[in-house]
Amino acid sequence: MRCPPEQVKHFLKGERISPGPRIDPARGRFEASLFAQNQLKNQAFIGNSRGVLEPPLGARGGPSPAALLVDSAASEVPLSFERSSMSTRRFHLRTHGCQMNSHDSEKVANLLLHEGYLESARLESADLVILNTCSIREKAEHKLYSELGALREWKLAASGRLLGVGGCVAQQEGDALLRRFAHLDFVFGTHNLRLVPAMAAAALRGQRGARVEESRDLARFDLPARHPAFESATPGRAFLTVMEGCDLFCSFCIVPTTRGREISRPAASILEEARRLADSGVRELTLLGQTVNAYGRHDLRRGVGAQAGTVAFAELLSRIDAIPGIERIRYTSPHPSFFDADLIAAHGELRALCPHVHLPLQSGSDRVLADMRRRYRVSEYRAVVAALRRARPDLAITTDLIVAFPGESEADFCDTLALMRELGFADSYSFKYSPRPGTAAARRSDPVDPVEAQRRLESLQALQRQLTLEAHRRRVGERTQVLAIGPSRRGGRQWSGRDPYHRVVNFAAADRALAPGDLLELTIAEATPHSLIGEWPASASSTASASPVRIDGRRADEPRSAGA
Ligand code: SF4
Repeated sequence: MRCPPEQVKHFLKGERISPGPRIDPARGRFEASLFAQNQLKNQAFIGNSRGVLEPPLGARGGPSPAALLVDSAASEVPLSFERSSMSTRRFHLRTHGCQMNSHDSEKVANLLLHEGYLESARLESADLVILNTCSIREKAEHKLYSELGALREWKLAASGRLLGVGGCVAQQEGDALLRRFAHLDFVFGTHNLRLVPAMAAAALRGQRGARVEESRDLARFDLPARHPAFESATPGRAFLTVMEGCDLFCSFCIVPTTRGREISRPAASILEEARRLADSGVRELTLLGQTVNAYGRHDLRRGVGAQAGTVAFAELLSRIDAIPGIERIRYTSPHPSFFDADLIAAHGELRALCPHVHLPLQSGSDRVLADMRRRYRVSEYRAVVAALRRARPDLAITTDLIVAFPGESEADFCDTLALMRELGFADSYSFKYSPRPGTAAARRSDPVDPVEAQRRLESLQALQRQLTLEAHRRRVGERTQVLAIGPSRRGGRQWSGRDPYHRVVNFAAADRALAPGDLLELTIAEATPHSLIGEWPASASSTASASPVRIDGRRADEPRSAGA
């Protein structure tokens, strides 16, 4: 059996929208926050779309291990350091990977701001460059190595410049990165974000170092409140980590190695952070975790929830829902195995829980799912979707899919296409399988032919584009609420935002003075395969009502108070 070939372009494109401080469209160009751009761009890789591994490229160069000062000095440095020595330094952060990585970058940026650094959107004006890396797919890892090579010139162009690497590649490679790249100053793993300012200070004194040890210490979640200079980067929206790590070991996935085992934060500390964010003007919270709905499960199973301070995930959602000011709650990425009755019911009951779930499927074939060690069958996945839709009939479901997993037959692939049609995914993130060293699937000897793998990817993406367009067309004429993100890449006075279903809505700002974080009421006027086109409803055409109502109830032409 062969599926009909379909010609497609990749429909998945990273967004490059530029949120930032208040913008008057009449006043011309908007200075983008690179940080916020990264946050948006990287939504193309949501939690569980786990592709996989690639050995380090080429021969390792750089000085011999003996010549390196690795770790020993860094392990001695305090968590903080002399602020005055850093007060005029600027950092430039580049993020690759998933939303968890984007959020880790936010945490690092926040720490550096608290230490007196300023953020620089431009490489040339930075004294410290940090690359936050992803190893989920071969391509991301390749990109890091070429980027690191290219940064040698920047590093050597002026004295005092520092280069650091964090994230999943850093976690895997550790001090090997220092040996390979002589111009690299420090490497920090996914559990060591708090050490970044101290490692930068040590590097300034000539001490290179790598800190990649895993930690079960919950203190790693307790970071300073958002710095005032940071708050403007993502107005109205914030990520909030509720758990980290994964115990599931899908056969293709490197995450349990790079992020460690599951660990859940106490609910009290999550709620405190949520309240702080709400007080600072955040209206949309996205709860993060590698398997976010596994939150607290081990504590509950062992009967030690009270001791650990954790609760069931549905209960956590309910408590966040009760926080005044939080208008939208999202969570990503859940695992299909951890939807209990309470979590499903929450989708029909909680005021702020958005009508969207990103539910990774990976394959529509039971045989492939078993080979992937996904721990559910298609029938179980289908049952979760049906239950969620019973609880919330307008729910939009997006997913992650991997094509050409080793041994995937044409029939398996067709099963995936059939399930996509049946469930009507609003969107999906899809990848060709690529082996990640250290994972079970990397040892398999039955790869799918690369040409065939590409054909499958294109066919699947063509189908998704069609499904997305159909879903978008069904919404034309509907009123929707859009959280403004910033001017769109199209330029002019086009803006972009997200609706409750997590769809991108583009719209003309016209002569309205908008600010990222504004909550707007728009009508869907047009559908495209990638986004929706919104327009101001007829009732907003008069001068009196032309200004959008903001999340805080003010009209858009009223001044925004400091910190809002
Ligand atoms: S469930 Fe865990 S192991 Fe499986 S894809 Fe997600 S993060 Fe990776």
